[in-house]
Amino acid sequence: MLAAMTLAIVNIGELVTLAGPEHYRTGAWMQDVGLVHNATVQIKGSRIIYAGPAADAPDMPGEVDEVDAGGRVVTPGFIDAHTHLVFGGNRIDEFERRIRGESYEEIAARGGGIRSTMTATREATDMELLTLAQRRLALAMRCGTTALEIKSGYGLNERAEKKMLRVIAWLRDASKQRIAATYLGAHTVPPEFDGKADAYIDLLCQDTLPKIARGKLADYADVFCERGAFSPAQATRYLLAAKAHGLRLRAHVDQLSRSGGAELAAACGCFTADHLEYTEESGIESLLRANVQPVLLPASVHALGKTRYPNARAMIEAGLGVVLATDFNPGSSPTLSLPFVMSLACTHLKMTPAEAITAVTYNAACCLGWHNELGSIEEDKRADLVVHDCADYRELCYYIGSETARVVVVGGRIAYNRDGGGE
Ligand SMILES: [Zn+2]
Repeated sequence: MLAAMTLAIVNIGELVTLAGPEHYRTGAWMQDVGLVHNATVQIKGSRIIYAGPAADAPDMPGEVDEVDAGGRVVTPGFIDAHTHLVFGGNRIDEFERRIRGESYEEIAARGGGIRSTMTATREATDMELLTLAQRRLALAMRCGTTALEIKSGYGLNERAEKKMLRVIAWLRDASKQRIAATYLGAHTVPPEFDGKADAYIDLLCQDTLPKIARGKLADYADVFCERGAFSPAQATRYLLAAKAHGLRLRAHVDQLSRSGGAELAAACGCFTADHLEYTEESGIESLLRANVQPVLLPASVHALGKTRYPNARAMIEAGLGVVLATDFNPGSSPTLSLPFVMSLACTHLKMTPAEAITAVTYNAACCLGWHNELGSIEEDKRADLVVHDCADYRELCYYIGSETARVVVVGGRIAYNRDGGGE
């Protein structure tokens, strides 16, 4: 029998381990990234067998592949906990219309926005969607992202939603990155149900949700609770039905207006409440009481040209396990770069670089139930890590828009090597 492959990452200047107890980081603890200087990581098969000071590293018997980090920074692979990565077409025309002064809501009211992507996604074949999505996953890898959550929600009828979830399942089987699937049937009201949002929610609750759950097509269900999408009452009805069918819950809330969305997410038992730009103190308290993790998406605020960012400082100080994600989608957040999101979080959310890194690694793993395996560099964990082209971990947030990932290891194998030589 062949011995498991062994790989050593040597000459690490700063190893960001995020090592510690198995619970999402809150408050001052988000500041502690478990930094080790002059470190080595040893990997056998897909698992980490040693991570710590180079001076204490045990000898590795047999033939060992080596990656020389050259004194650079190594972090856990980034985890993007909120993406809409599968869709047809793009929204470049709307991008220009927004520059000329139309708002996101005005464009949506004129048939643009989510509905224009819906049309492109309904018309695309499985293969076309898969090819586009694979290209995007490769881009995410180059940004250091080794695991992602992907939502449906651009089909908005049973056939097209199932097509999206099928594509996500294929991506999960074929890609190197770890993937979670979320059914976002309640993303917006489809044109067939104009003015009949309640009837659409009825259909989802009574017919589509049970089928999605029975077919094990998704791990989570998600809803967009907002003016022009679904009311708090409709969102609650959908989420509770999804929960009754065994799906775990996530929710888009308080993005463009205050609707009590954080309180709603807490009352329904969501794993995460996402966006939260308009969430105030009472919402934060509700999330805390119900152990809901906030997923903050500053790139969507930036890309929409808005100025109201979520109050991350109040959330961290209250003791919430804050997560940052891209919200990658063709309309309001066309970026796959978590380093860019981290940079925005530092500048606009007043998060420190250490807090931002915690929010895209360990805390992100927790909100997807992956923290036993992913999110930190510790013995027995899956070897997902990134060698970055910098000597100080704070550079990841300091430089804006640069591609820092030099070598990305996923499951103990080199999945991307900027200098070539990857698998
Ligand atoms: Zn979203």
